[in-house]
Amino acid sequence: MKVIPYGRQCITDEDIEAVAEALRSDYLTQGPRIAEFERKFADYVGAPEGVAVSNATAGLHIACKALGVKPGQRVICTPITFAASANCARYCGADVTFCDIDPKTFLIDYDKLEAILSSHPSGTFAGVIAVDFAGYPLDMPRLREIADRHGLWIIEDACHAPGAWREDAAGVKQHAGNARFADCTVFSFHPVKHIATGEGGMVTAARPEVIEGLRLYRSHGITKDPARLEKNDGGWYYEMQDLGFNYRITDIQAALGISQLKRADAGLARRQEIAGRYDRELAGIPGLVTPFRESGLLHAFHLYVIRTPRRKELYDFLHDRGILAQVHYVPLHLMPYYREQGCRPGDCPEAEAYYSECLSLPMFPTLTDEDQTRVIETVKEFFK
Ligand SMILES: *Cc1c(COP(=O)(O)O)cnc(C)c1O
Repeated sequence: MKVIPYGRQCITDEDIEAVAEALRSDYLTQGPRIAEFERKFADYVGAPEGVAVSNATAGLHIACKALGVKPGQRVICTPITFAASANCARYCGADVTFCDIDPKTFLIDYDKLEAILSSHPSGTFAGVIAVDFAGYPLDMPRLREIADRHGLWIIEDACHAPGAWREDAAGVKQHAGNARFADCTVFSFHPVKHIATGEGGMVTAARPEVIEGLRLYRSHGITKDPARLEKNDGGWYYEMQDLGFNYRITDIQAALGISQLKRADAGLARRQEIAGRYDRELAGIPGLVTPFRESGLLHAFHLYVIRTPRRKELYDFLHDRGILAQVHYVPLHLMPYYREQGCRPGDCPEAEAYYSECLSLPMFPTLTDEDQTRVIETVKEFFK
């Protein structure tokens, strides 16, 4: 029986050749392909600058560092996301308050965010970490407006959403991570995500001091930039100006990223096709809800999440038949670690209800029509 995963990378001969070329070049790391990948990815999402990192978790960490997150501060995060979205604040010693999700979009609920902010003294929260969950683009102008009124920074975790966009009030397409609304936006190049580099990530930003901070923390807190040095002993001279990390990506990975980026739009188009077919074929099955759809945006469909009260049974039924549907995610506020930090069941009822019913069906550009037919027929058989 052929096993169908929920997501997988697509590697072409051209990708392999690009990596081989990097291996034959003078640089395995810290060479020209990293800057090229940063420039091309930033252009792709419409941002002025991109900072490539070893993975998105590292990117989230240095985004927090660059925005000055410190012990004693408190940040707000959605509970329906991968653990790294919230952990980055904990790495910096800050505490996390989870804000419930909108039951339609599964994104952070803007009204509930507003309610949390206005029921605490001003200055309680330093920032908000929001996620373009499943690839559904956040309403960034709205989030920015709320953040500005309460003096917050925004980290947008767009690991699910490279290429996604949403029209603003003037009908202009605003791409996730274009750095016009978020202070930092973080992308992942893990193999299940849209663009694969093995491990890898990117942070986009616009403010020069934030970009400088990202570059500094990515590389040990060390700079050689003459404009930033306190003094200058000569050509060799560098300074470690803060405690940073080694969160660099390699040229080998950047070569793969540059090659993959050429197919990013084709991959998004294929994901739309697959989602459209699931929508049509699964519509009207009693006890199954397909994802909420709305015009004026491009959903990047990293995940295709259905809801059913019979989720556990359906999960087992599909797995028994070689279809590896997955659950995204166990709510973060229910994790033993975050319960130890004071979180409780009942804190985010919509997230908990969502978790009891959610299931991600196979969704990746190289999913064949035949395999999708098998997924659809198996789901239909289960509900018959
Ligand atoms: C994958 C993912 C991450 C972490 O990405 P890595 O590159 O594996 O560190 C963070 N946030 C979200 C929402 C993700 O899906």
